[in-house]
Amino acid sequence: MDSGIYTNLASVTLTAYRQSAGLTQEFISVDSKSGTVSFNNWIHFGWQGIEWEMPEEWTLGKIEGDRANGYLRIDDEDMVRLEARWHVPKSGKVDIEAEAEKQIREIEKKTKKSKQKVIVKRKVRLVQREDSDWECYHMRTEFHVWNLVNHCHICGRVILLRLFHLAKEDDRALAERVFGSFIDHQEDCHDHWDVYGLSMRLPTSFELDHPSLKTGEIHLQFKRRREIFIGRRISLAELQLREMSLKEWSIKRFKAEWQKFRWQFEESEFLRHESCFVRGYARIARQIWSPLSAKVLKCRVWYCKDSDKLFILHAQMKDEESDLFEEVCASIHCH
Ligand SMILES: [Zn+2]
Ligand SMILES: [Zn+2]
Repeated sequence: MDSGIYTNLASVTLTAYRQSAGLTQEFISVDSKSGTVSFNNWIHFGWQGIEWEMPEEWTLGKIEGDRANGYLRIDDEDMVRLEARWHVPKSGKVDIEAEAEKQIREIEKKTKKSKQKVIVKRKVRLVQREDSDWECYHMRTEFHVWNLVNHCHICGRVILLRLFHLAKEDDRALAERVFGSFIDHQEDCHDHWDVYGLSMRLPTSFELDHPSLKTGEIHLQFKRRREIFIGRRISLAELQLREMSLKEWSIKRFKAEWQKFRWQFEESEFLRHESCFVRGYARIARQIWSPLSAKVLKCRVWYCKDSDKLFILHAQMKDEESDLFEEVCASIHCH
């Protein structure tokens, strides 16, 4: 995976993200009797086959690794909220109790210096999981955290999910919802990627190749042999289109990406949005011809006025008849 993602992520501040996503609602409710806080608006999150629901104002802070091995962190304005760490174990057998024990020892070691007590509640019946060995446990030290350690028999990954909460929050309900919505693979062998407002569904056989997560432009590039799919979400569409038409903007922006193909441009509508569609065929002289070569270009650009964003799906495919382009397009929700 391209390491550029880390530098790109650093430029995404929560405030900027909120502005770009147009998030202005009130996020929390406070119970008048108990004073406990709960979250009103929830969103879906998806990365490398790992998905969950989380409060809307929580946002991605860090990502490392790939499908087999990785780490990601979700923050709110003040603190870390969720962490996920995953790996594929060397042997197929995993002792989940021992795994949880090891994680707890690590925290105890870290807190030794500060003489903080670690209070642990093991084997909490918080969620029910299928085709997995798992344990939920709660830890209270200088921070409060719900943990779910899970070994999936289907995709083989061991995942540790940590949810940090404040004492005043309705944390059990929060953990039940986040952990209850957690999945680590889709039965239909598709991944639902969903990050910073770019949501798309692709077969798992496509590997994430080049992600770039800047405030103004989210870009996810996937590869399967020589086939390429790129999803993009670009902010401030109205500003981008102030001095040119959607057609002029698309050609100016993507001409270089289309140059290996002889392409034709069509202005059309897509789901009642102003849209452009480009279809192209590889220029034989430029291509090393093989049955695997991407011979067909398809690209759709659409302008979503409701979200003030431009959405683009670019695909280089070997099979013109495939429905995949339209399927992926339909999976991108703009507003
Ligand atoms: Zn799984
Ligand atoms: Zn839209």
